[in-house]
Amino acid sequence: MKINNHDIGTIAVHESKRGPASITLPKVAPIYASSVFDFEKLEDIDAVYEGTKKGYIYSRVDNPNISLLENMVAKLEQAEAGAAFSSGMAAIASSILACIKEGDHVVANRVLYGGSYSFLADHLQALGIKVTFTDFSDTDRVKEAITEKTRILYVETISNPLMEVADLPALAEIAKQHGLKLIVDNTFASPYVCNPIALGADVVVHSATKYLNGHSDVTGGIAVGTRKFVNKVKEIRSLWGGCMSPFDAWLVLRGIRTLHLRMREHCSNALKLAEQLSKHPKVLRVNYPGLTEHPQHRLACEILKGGFGGMLSFEVEGGVEGAAKVIEALKLVDLTPSLAGVATTVSHPGKTSHRSLPSDVKDRIGVRDSLIRVSVGIETIDTVIADFEQALNTLTLD
Ligand SMILES: *Cc1c(COP(=O)(O)O)cnc(C)c1O
Repeated sequence: MKINNHDIGTIAVHESKRGPASITLPKVAPIYASSVFDFEKLEDIDAVYEGTKKGYIYSRVDNPNISLLENMVAKLEQAEAGAAFSSGMAAIASSILACIKEGDHVVANRVLYGGSYSFLADHLQALGIKVTFTDFSDTDRVKEAITEKTRILYVETISNPLMEVADLPALAEIAKQHGLKLIVDNTFASPYVCNPIALGADVVVHSATKYLNGHSDVTGGIAVGTRKFVNKVKEIRSLWGGCMSPFDAWLVLRGIRTLHLRMREHCSNALKLAEQLSKHPKVLRVNYPGLTEHPQHRLACEILKGGFGGMLSFEVEGGVEGAAKVIEALKLVDLTPSLAGVATTVSHPGKTSHRSLPSDVKDRIGVRDSLIRVSVGIETIDTVIADFEQALNTLTLD
């Protein structure tokens, strides 16, 4: 480039477009904060579009940081390929839309993350897709709900907020017999605790906002499955626009490097806290798949590996007042309506994630006013147990 005069405008626009020349490589892949990519030759455009040469075109469609994250999660989940999204809900909605068309039918568990429930119950129906919610802990009910039009079975590995464990091998068998896609939200388990694809699921979705990232500083999602499914879901991502930002992909990838260490601590801390809470006289019941009294404990031992997850819930005496008193008396543990960060937090499902359900439905599925949900962190667990004990003792002292 020839500059005759001191052309500030040209320098400002064209200098430093590329990384500096260097014979060494960065230890960590840089963030490709580039919305678009340059081509050397016109013929390369055909090659990249047709897939005969690897290249990136436009970051809504594909981006190096997003590819790195997708490959990572696909490997962790034993899937052929993955697609990353701007949120867990974008991953879930796009995955469902990739497997369905107008007139089709979905069978979903009656207990789901609130956003997934609303998407299925309200938005899909508006697109002319019928949804039946049933109790997935009884596989006969699932079979009864299937019709000729059914295309999808939708379930979470570990349900929120009662930590029911889905019988994924049995559900996969039903899906296979009826030619359905089994879509599993594996957010609560993470790939460290469960690999639904290895158990027969077709598609696995994650809110990467939770354990995959693990540090409460990203909103993101990912879906994995066959390459054919991923091509389809990427088309939906591209046109409905739910793409992830390169920086968020970079952060989630950074979070994943310690997933196994974090999950090990989340799981062992949650088991210790669940055992201690079960012994407290003011605790009516504890929901944690690692406890022998959990209704699916044996199933959990079969399909969960390396631990039973970092999420638990428990009921206290005194109804909503009892729950409020305990939550407010906690000193170290904050009231936070999300999960899976490094710090232990509590939430009240009745007032947050399941707020919109009518009270008779809440009662039927066991989301009572006295229920407190805990996302067990990776702190020294003795400090956390002591905090819950002093908070529960405020009930005893009345
Ligand atoms: C948080 C969550 C979602 C939604 O994910 P976002 O990243 O908030 O969009 C879906 N499923 C489960 C189980 C979740 O916990």
